[in-house]
Amino acid sequence: MQKFTAPSETVQMDKEKLLAFVTEHGSSNSHTAILAKTMNIPALIGVNIKPEWNGKFAIVDGYTGTLYIEPDEDTFNTLKKKQEEDIKARELLQDLKGKEDITQDGRKIKLYANIGGVKDVASVLANDAAGIGLFRSEFLYLEADDYPSEESQFMAYKTVAENMAGRKVIVRTLDIGADKQAGYFNLGHEDNPAMGYRAIRICLERTDIFKTQLRALLRASAFGNIAIMFPMVISVNEVKQIKEIVNEVKKELDGQEIPYGETELGIMIETPAAVMISDLLAPEVDFFSIGTNDLTQYTLAIDRQNMKLDNIYDAHHPAILRMIQMTIENGHKHGCWVGICGELGADPGLTKTFVEMGIDELSVSPAFVLPTRKNIRDIKLN
Ligand code: PEP
Ligand code: MG
Repeated sequence: MQKFTAPSETVQMDKEKLLAFVTEHGSSNSHTAILAKTMNIPALIGVNIKPEWNGKFAIVDGYTGTLYIEPDEDTFNTLKKKQEEDIKARELLQDLKGKEDITQDGRKIKLYANIGGVKDVASVLANDAAGIGLFRSEFLYLEADDYPSEESQFMAYKTVAENMAGRKVIVRTLDIGADKQAGYFNLGHEDNPAMGYRAIRICLERTDIFKTQLRALLRASAFGNIAIMFPMVISVNEVKQIKEIVNEVKKELDGQEIPYGETELGIMIETPAAVMISDLLAPEVDFFSIGTNDLTQYTLAIDRQNMKLDNIYDAHHPAILRMIQMTIENGHKHGCWVGICGELGADPGLTKTFVEMGIDELSVSPAFVLPTRKNIRDIKLN
């Protein structure tokens, strides 16, 4: 047993050897928990880990959120049986591979997967996602000891694009800050980092870092179907600045005769401000991707990292559902397609609601692709 606290530690672990997470800190909406989901391993957050557990046999039941230290034989056998049933249920879903993401009434949904790095592409393909709806590119930065070069980023994006063989790969630009800290950024202490200097706010100020990433992304777009999306947007002015910088980078590449492909540009809708002006933002971009993790945090004024508030961090709150509806309607009015890439997108109890609202895309952790496909295919709207 080993203790982890930050996403930067999580991302550096040898995923082959990891069976489960047990963390003392963080909340179920933190990036540590999200990464565990992406890796499809059980995770318990907020456990008071005792030193005497070190070196002991333990079982983590991710369904009930229970940690068993040296369970007795009966408990072991019951959990073993549960695990076998889980494996069997997942095997049944394998029949859905190669099938369309379409409702009984013929509504097609783009069912994509979320990834944190190049290695996760294998599980995207194994789970037959139609694309990648969120590549959290900041994990390339968290894995590194210094700013990743254009070349290393280019290779990462190119590899993902090539492996996805023409399927859409939506890369979110650097969303560093808040709980995702890389020492070499020297971001400094903030009293309220979730509402602080992070994501696009850093990129629009430190345009050297931003342009390096954009160059890498655009270059990689010559090798596959890459789209670029921008996190934490709150104003039209930001989007205009972003587009100006993208155009500058394209001009530079043109001048150097470096090829790049057609890339859709989108923004994450994860602040209440972006929802409320989604009618003004939509004409500026090709797509919206709703980040329900942050949207819930900012709408409900609940720090997603605070495990004390986990019980009232309610992504099903009517305010969130109304915001999703509003975003879809405003997006569609202006020819902008709309998806959800936050964790709520994988909620089986809401798949039908989202389809009824008119959602175009759902991007979920790779292990949730086939269960969500099943839900979509079971839907009958009329
Ligand atoms: C979100 O906020 O919903 C989202 C998808 O981004 P992240 O979880 O990485 O903040
Ligand atoms: Mg977010």
